[in-house]
Amino acid sequence: MSLSFEEALEKVREKLSGVARVPPSESVGLPSALGRFLAEDVAADRDYPPFHRAIRDGFAVRSSDVVGVPVGLVRQGEVRAGAHFSATVGVGECVEIMTGAPLPPGADAVVMIEHVRVTGSQVEVLRSIGPWENVVRKGSEAAVGSVVLRRGRRVMSGEIGLLASVGRDPVRVFRQPEVAILPTGDEVVPHEQKPQWFQIRNSNALTLAAQVRAAGGRPRPMPIAPDDEESLRRSVREGLESDLLLLSGGVSMGKYDFVRKILSELGAESFIQGVAIRPGKPLVFGRVAEKFFFGLPGNPVSTYVTFELFVRPALAMLSGGEFLRPVFLRARLGKPFRQKHGLTAFMPARVETRDGDPVVELVGWQGSGDLVGVAAANCFLVVHPEQMELAAGAWVDVLPRPG
Ligand code: AMP
Ligand code: MG
Repeated sequence: MSLSFEEALEKVREKLSGVARVPPSESVGLPSALGRFLAEDVAADRDYPPFHRAIRDGFAVRSSDVVGVPVGLVRQGEVRAGAHFSATVGVGECVEIMTGAPLPPGADAVVMIEHVRVTGSQVEVLRSIGPWENVVRKGSEAAVGSVVLRRGRRVMSGEIGLLASVGRDPVRVFRQPEVAILPTGDEVVPHEQKPQWFQIRNSNALTLAAQVRAAGGRPRPMPIAPDDEESLRRSVREGLESDLLLLSGGVSMGKYDFVRKILSELGAESFIQGVAIRPGKPLVFGRVAEKFFFGLPGNPVSTYVTFELFVRPALAMLSGGEFLRPVFLRARLGKPFRQKHGLTAFMPARVETRDGDPVVELVGWQGSGDLVGVAAANCFLVVHPEQMELAAGAWVDVLPRPG
């Protein structure tokens, strides 16, 4: 029985939350932590910023001195980034200061260079400013000891920078789950091989390996399994040795679609047997003993989309992270749209800004086998079952195409 898209997503979340298994962790050099999930909370090793930091070039002043302007102050010296000025700025005094330099004691604001007139050591301030203007106060971004990144957070480029700034190199991350990728189908041949006219290159395994890597997992490509029960059984058993098994193809109702049968013979608990989505309807999700598997429909766009919708969030959880629900953004529909089937549809589309609004339009495509269509798209238009008819200009959901 088919589940709705939301029900299926919830099923994956629920089943993966059910396993309390924390993946083992390891310490890695910071650059290698990219794409991995943190295995420890990371705290600020000192206040951030570590001092009251000037964010403009100009003059450090006591703000109470520049309430009424213009007003003349006496320049006591200068402080540049990488240096510090130890004397206190007294009433009627100022210190020339550069962006990134610590505010001298006594001063509580920075007047921008554009708002003064300098004659020798006389500085005429032309604009009044309040306390802490053009200054980021010590500890305002993070106080020493406070957690700046939680365990389970995925390390992306921004987090790399934050980890570097708090001196966290090496850093502890969870071990990456190994994901077995098992392509099936008598017609499927290795992509390096020249196919005969009735054969198809194995593109899915390559797509899936790239998606697994992008999601933070370690792909384990397996040889193509032909559509015969015996070899498929052997391959599935082998695949279940990894942390997660992804099968491509063989999950539909065809005479030679043996994946469901084999899995059930191997004692699989089945959680999803079909989802009311297009493409990707025959999706299968379950568990054999401790190991989860997804049977992804073999049509290349179905494989791609079902990975993004269901496998990516699951993989985040197996990596020690949180369930990452796919996020839909909104755009205006460029042309009217109708559907009859009452499924949640994901269709290759392009979104671009027109007159200040994001506008989405379908790219021409021939259905769930059409990777040319996907390559022309930068998102998927998401149409929900109840949206049978949509007018041009209507706000609709789009799923950005991940990198
Ligand atoms: P299936 O889900 O096995 O019925 O396959 C559906 C469609 O996807 C068929 O047209 C297959 O030839 C195609 N297909 C299956 N596996 C792959 C693969 N690994 N790479 C590319 N296309 C595939
Ligand atoms: Mg097949």
